[in-house]
Amino acid sequence: MNLVDRKIVDEMYRDGWLYTSFGEYWRRKYGYKVCKVPLNAGFTCPNWDGRIADDGCAFCPNFARQFTYDSFRTVINKSWKEQVTHQVKHYKGMGAGDKAMVYIAFATNTYAPLKDLKKIYDAALDHKDVIGLSIGTRPDCLPDEVLDLMGDYVKQGYEIWVEVGQQTPHYHTLKDIDRGHGFAESIRVVREAHKRGIKVIFFNISGMPGESPDEMVETARILSALEIDAVKQYPLIVMKGTRLAEDYIKGKYRPLGRMEYVNIVADMLENMDRYVLIQRLSKDCGLETKLAPEWNTYRLIVTPLVEKELARRKTRQGEKFKLSLNVDELKPLKKVD
Ligand code: SF4
Repeated sequence: MNLVDRKIVDEMYRDGWLYTSFGEYWRRKYGYKVCKVPLNAGFTCPNWDGRIADDGCAFCPNFARQFTYDSFRTVINKSWKEQVTHQVKHYKGMGAGDKAMVYIAFATNTYAPLKDLKKIYDAALDHKDVIGLSIGTRPDCLPDEVLDLMGDYVKQGYEIWVEVGQQTPHYHTLKDIDRGHGFAESIRVVREAHKRGIKVIFFNISGMPGESPDEMVETARILSALEIDAVKQYPLIVMKGTRLAEDYIKGKYRPLGRMEYVNIVADMLENMDRYVLIQRLSKDCGLETKLAPEWNTYRLIVTPLVEKELARRKTRQGEKFKLSLNVDELKPLKKVD
């Protein structure tokens, strides 16, 4: 079983929710608004610094390797501690939340010696309004000692999540996009994280090259069977300057159409256990960095379309999720004389 509070989820479904919204779950769990405050702690990634590879995953843009994301420009040149203080104040000031989770985003935020990680995590937690950490990383960069460190924070009462960039469970895709890891790493991470009270979010991309819609739906069943705590779902976006962009320009890769994506996500939600929280259903991406798809992938645009599709089908998350047969519900066997 995952670490999600099932009573809260059951209550949400009694209240008519079509899927288990992460934001709503947190409001009910804490009784106050918690905002996620994204920060860049300056980590690199073994898939671009030469340890595994030096040119990243096929869809990983060069700009992601620099500290250039707009909303972080104001905090460049500040110390890590000052960045945390500045950004928590900024998000609280916008009314985003009463308390904050520091989301250490960008690159692989567990990829450093343990003592350095401890300094960064300790400094982020040393703020009166910070209730925990959400740490983005790869599944092959969470050795036991790093999980133990996070487990110590859980024991101190902090909310600790790891955000695992698995992106797909299908090995042929992982190989094609040069991830440099398989799916076994994630199976271990979920098991070891849960033992320590650490919750696990998976990033999942639909529309990967060579992946069929059936495989994308099977992904929802695999992630449910693995009992992850939450998922960040989004379409594959072709960013300028990537190897995927070269394939797109040569006509070797076709992104999903808007309604194609909406239908696949609705199918996935029907096949996803309702105790897996849904943190997002698409991804915000500015035109200046995006090559394709041509449709607007912003969450505020795509999420209502998915909700509309679920309502049209008169269905909701988990409606078709099943991992074993119930003989009593099966059609009768044909009599053979
Ligand atoms: S693991 Fe993440 S940061 Fe590293 S190359 Fe792949 S997409 Fe980029």
